[in-house]
Amino acid sequence: MAEASADVKQRYIGVDIGATNIRAGVVDDAGRILGEARRPSLAETGLRAAIDRTIEAIREAIQQAGLSLADIRAIGAGVPGAHRSREGICVYSPNFADSRGVPVLAPIRHDLDLPAFMLNDVAVQTIGEHRFGAGQGYSQMVMITLGTGIGGGAIIDGEPQIGPTEGFAEVGHMTIEANGPLCGCGNRGCWEALAGRDAIVRRAVEKIQTGRSTAIADMVDYRLGSITPALIARSAEEGDDVAAEVLAETAHYLGIGIANLIQLYNPQILVIGGGIAQAGPKLFEPLMRTVRSRAHMVPASTCRVVRSRLAGDAGVIGAAVLAMRQLERTPPQPSSTAAPQLSTRESRSDP
Ligand SMILES: [Zn+2]
Repeated sequence: MAEASADVKQRYIGVDIGATNIRAGVVDDAGRILGEARRPSLAETGLRAAIDRTIEAIREAIQQAGLSLADIRAIGAGVPGAHRSREGICVYSPNFADSRGVPVLAPIRHDLDLPAFMLNDVAVQTIGEHRFGAGQGYSQMVMITLGTGIGGGAIIDGEPQIGPTEGFAEVGHMTIEANGPLCGCGNRGCWEALAGRDAIVRRAVEKIQTGRSTAIADMVDYRLGSITPALIARSAEEGDDVAAEVLAETAHYLGIGIANLIQLYNPQILVIGGGIAQAGPKLFEPLMRTVRSRAHMVPASTCRVVRSRLAGDAGVIGAAVLAMRQLERTPPQPSSTAAPQLSTRESRSDP
């Protein structure tokens, strides 16, 4: 690997291995994406096959950026699930068939001969948003990601909080309503059973099935299975009453969970990421009303609640930030023997 000279910008690869798409980007040390490539995750074909496509995407992203492997310092990857990140092994990633015990980093290091690091996807988004996004300059930050599930990450005294299972905390499975709907985890009334993707869509479908007239049904030509939270959000901002009601009900539950996190963590800033976070005032106004009405001991006014600034790029940029952080903490070593130390919080949990 070529030694990067001081006047040359440092470049890293950030990889976001999602349930649907794999995205690889070349990211410079100012957090700019210089080139990128995508591959389908084809999660049903297993994690090993997804890693092969990840390597292809990395090579293509480098080409897109007009660079060569020698211009890259290290690779970071965000992968959903629980991992033994220091060893580069996936413990379990629920979206992928055959993910248990799959080596994630070894094939990447072997094929590309570069240092490579991994971490849970939400933790990666959190460190990305902290360094280059909405969380810049804050030492106490909580991030939540709203998608199929609800994930969370935290920065405490400037460092990511990483628990023994390598995530931050299962915020999506805190009970919000004691007798609420059954969650996939087996509990009732979990946050994600009330405000995750399926809950949002279910609310819209139930209203349509009672005969309410709404633009949402027209937009999907009454194929109710095609309704998405993004579509509901767009209809709401365009003035559709049913969509606005769905968002307001969702915002109520999101607001309760966010108020809980503010009481628990007393953060300076809480960043909301994920698709629905890009919704407009029809979501955020009722959400903030609920937060203010329920956050008292740690008043809501002490915490900024904002949208992710990196939005869809948080995974790629965050993964590159992971690689930057690791190199900042460990001197470079030959990639064939690389087993670099994660920061102390991260490595403490390893067996
Ligand atoms: Zn649950």
